[in-house]
Amino acid sequence: MLDNIRWDADLIRRYDLSGPRYTSYPTAVQFHEGVGPFDMLHALRDSQKAGRPLSLYVHIPFCANICYYCACNKVITKDRGRSAPYLARLIHEIEIVSRHLGRGQVVEQLHFGGGTPTFLSPGQLRELMGQLRTHLHLLDDDSGDYGIEIDPREADWSTMGLLRELGFNRVSLGVQDFDLEVQQAVNRLQSLDETRAIMDAARTLQYRSINIDLIYGLPKQTPSRFADTVEQVIGLQPDRLSVFNYAHLPERFMPQRRINTADLPSPGQKLEMLQRTIEQLSEAGYRYIGMDHFALPDDELASAQEDGTLQRNFQGYTTHGHCDLVGLGVSAISQIGDFYGQNSTDISHYMSSLDNGQLATRRGLHCSKDDRVRRAVIQQLICHFQLDFEAIEESLNIDFRGYFADIWAELERFAADGLIKLDQRGIDVTPAGRLLVRTLCMLFDHYLPTQSLQRFSRVI
Ligand code: SF4
Repeated sequence: MLDNIRWDADLIRRYDLSGPRYTSYPTAVQFHEGVGPFDMLHALRDSQKAGRPLSLYVHIPFCANICYYCACNKVITKDRGRSAPYLARLIHEIEIVSRHLGRGQVVEQLHFGGGTPTFLSPGQLRELMGQLRTHLHLLDDDSGDYGIEIDPREADWSTMGLLRELGFNRVSLGVQDFDLEVQQAVNRLQSLDETRAIMDAARTLQYRSINIDLIYGLPKQTPSRFADTVEQVIGLQPDRLSVFNYAHLPERFMPQRRINTADLPSPGQKLEMLQRTIEQLSEAGYRYIGMDHFALPDDELASAQEDGTLQRNFQGYTTHGHCDLVGLGVSAISQIGDFYGQNSTDISHYMSSLDNGQLATRRGLHCSKDDRVRRAVIQQLICHFQLDFEAIEESLNIDFRGYFADIWAELERFAADGLIKLDQRGIDVTPAGRLLVRTLCMLFDHYLPTQSLQRFSRVI
């Protein structure tokens, strides 16, 4: 078992609830339509005044094929011509946004996600990066963290060469499972060789970090088949691994209706898959970073966790939490200081807003003082598994025990059950509690009692 986590089947059975992943607090469920383009412009100007560095997220929604488990905002089309009108609006959005930001604001982090970013042609990728460099202050000495999601079925050596030339130095590869029957059941046929070829290209071209995404809980998966996939992935030696729990919510996500419920593994099998995955990764030298994420000990995420600088935002765990996050493209979310704004999730509305010369911000919120307090507590627990009362009291000007008096009995129950250690000084999440840190964070979530937990995946 990894030295920083311990599998406790009894605790997992009792505390494995459905809950948010806390890539933000408040979560996107709380966003409301009282926030629009004007608020976004205001936030951008505040960012400029503060001169904070930037993290950009660019959403490319197109995919040539549908994966049945998908819960992303995407447009499935074989018509490559669909990307040109979208790209024109994206460039218009970059122009508008950049007018309100300063040239001194360095883009420390950039991430292209989707959808499938390489659905864009080489010429379109070149054009998009050129526009970003023209309008914003991108680094050109390879010192930024510039990443892109790659579907190995939609990329080859020349794609990887082009992306490296354009400034990308990190890649995240979707794999999910290498078993053929599982791949057929989710309509995503992707061989180990195809994936290995992209990894070889990334290594040869000196990308700094390679991430692989896996999903457990897919149809036709069994503990032993999934263990084979994990073994094959370990053989590829990615720097980071994301191992997500599949949440089957066919009433919310149409493509999931094509999954045969009878083919899904049982909750017991899913737990076994996760337990074996943790054991396999542990033996292979990976470290548990936190919810769903593992990394080799020399990876930046592991170092940031050690030196206390790790943070979490819409891009998952990050070493760039001090940056303002600006989301570009349909459905993209921005986090600028205490402001959250999300673009329209409807591509027609997104494009028509930009045609009218307006940003497409459709929902969002401004954090209250209480949101800021709870956000800081949740961030600290989810990234570092410990909370120092004095530090948080000083930075937020609160009396911790008084502020959270209503959940104190629950915290004591968590401590009695061995998920945390609780004393005058603070909270330490025990190795057995770390896998369940989301359940602990849920205690501090002011909004949760009013939400339906059905919309969230289970903690494990
Ligand atoms: S999982 Fe990824 S590649 Fe598959 S349909 Fe969804 S966005 Fe596209």
